[in-house]
Amino acid sequence: MKKICAVSGQEFEITEKDLEFYKKMSVPPPTLCPEERERRRWAWRGKDFFLRECDACGKKKMAWFSPELTEIKTYCEDCFRSEAFDATKYGRDFDFSRPFFEQFRELYYAVPHHISNAIKNENCEYIISAHQNKNCYMADEVDDSWDCYFGYTFQRVKNITEGLYIHDSEIGYQLVKAENCYAVFYSKNVFHCSESAFLLNCRSCKKCLFCANLRNKEYHIFNQKVSKEEFQKYWDFLFSGSQKNRETCREKFSEFLQTQYFPAATIIHCEDSTGDYITHSKNAQYCFCVDYLRDCKYCTDIHRSQDCMDVNIYEGELCYECNHIGPEGYKNRFSQLTWFSSDIDYSIDLYNCQNCFGSTSLKKEKYCILNKKYSREEYEQLTSKIIEHMKQTGEWGEFFPIEMSPQPYNHTMAQRFYPLIKKEVLSRGWKWLDEKEEIKESAEHHIPENLSEIGNDFTSKVFLCEETGKKFRFIPQEIKFYQKWGIPLPTVAPVQRIENLWNQLGERKLYNRKCAISGEEIETTYPPEFEGKVVSQEEYLKIVE
Ligand SMILES: [Zn+2]
Repeated sequence: MKKICAVSGQEFEITEKDLEFYKKMSVPPPTLCPEERERRRWAWRGKDFFLRECDACGKKKMAWFSPELTEIKTYCEDCFRSEAFDATKYGRDFDFSRPFFEQFRELYYAVPHHISNAIKNENCEYIISAHQNKNCYMADEVDDSWDCYFGYTFQRVKNITEGLYIHDSEIGYQLVKAENCYAVFYSKNVFHCSESAFLLNCRSCKKCLFCANLRNKEYHIFNQKVSKEEFQKYWDFLFSGSQKNRETCREKFSEFLQTQYFPAATIIHCEDSTGDYITHSKNAQYCFCVDYLRDCKYCTDIHRSQDCMDVNIYEGELCYECNHIGPEGYKNRFSQLTWFSSDIDYSIDLYNCQNCFGSTSLKKEKYCILNKKYSREEYEQLTSKIIEHMKQTGEWGEFFPIEMSPQPYNHTMAQRFYPLIKKEVLSRGWKWLDEKEEIKESAEHHIPENLSEIGNDFTSKVFLCEETGKKFRFIPQEIKFYQKWGIPLPTVAPVQRIENLWNQLGERKLYNRKCAISGEEIETTYPPEFEGKVVSQEEYLKIVE
């Protein structure tokens, strides 16, 4: 059936299979199109790094909330975990004379929240949404990783500087989507590669430079076999620590890519799946950056999940319209940040909870509504009454409204995928927070062309970002990394380096296009204006194998 999105006015399709899913989840069909639903969820998920005081102990900690957001209370990891903090103390009765969102809003802003969603990390300043890491800096969505700086989604990796979606890899720089790689630099969409640089869409390649679409090759440059000596000559030129040499290489590689084919999407070991960057999945529809899925639709950044629709980040089963569920999320609806929790509705920041409705910042609780505890029978009766009430108010089936989000729109993931200017954000009644210059000292302006020109007190100096004009400093750990690998100094601020990786990843939207070889209709994230030769999966396999 066709529906008109209540926000964008665009027509969108709801299939028979979608209806079956909604029935299984006991939810009505959505009133918003998939994009507007995703925007609404992402508007609750911060993307930036701030220093902010814990509202309990006063210590300054990394936060995904700006210190200027005084409406919300946040606790550091220690204070949040402490037995002294029990959010059921904020429990309250449900008032059937008022809308649900209004009551949840009051609760949400009264209860302290986890400052960064960073748990069990060692020596990790500036990381958010992270678990069990060591010596990481300015990274988001990090698990079991060491010595990683500047990026998003590092899982079981070591020694990566500037990365996006890096899994099970060691040593790397400026990588976008890499799995099982070792010492790979300036590359995108690489699996099982090592000691290589400037690779695109390569698998199992070793000691290769400036190559695209290669499989199981060694000592190749521009897709041609070369001698060890020739390879070494180019390698030494690239890794000399000179910006000029590196830029020469980047330009040559980009010229070379104009002659190459581009796969419509990267979908590996999958059946009946659409989207991009999908591995080991069956029936994953319109999904991006996901792995090991069964029967999921409109999901991004999730792993080992099944029967999920409209879920961004992490892991679950039978979940709908959620942001960051799991590990082991089961039957979560309209919720955000629910760790190891099941049968959860309309809740935010829950840890090891079961059967909770409209609750927030709870740890190991069951049968709570608006943070108040009930018996199982009371809970079941009251929740069905509330759902009926929400059907009357038009709230049931809708994720939390954007205007309720504590995050200013421009500091959320929504701004990354659905960017708006300040005027548009304010006219929609959402929050906006202008960026502040954090560094007071004046900037040096000049970043040395060559690594060898770095002086002793280099990390105390302030520089201007070549792209944004913002001030920034280098951190000692990154300098060590550049020196070890002969990588020239970056000329843009860390935040912009991360944005540049996102720009490389491309869009999360499917366009129709004709395969450059067979002419058949294909779906791809390459927009119509992209001039490269995009080919179907079938034709691509003929090229690479
Ligand atoms: Zn604290």
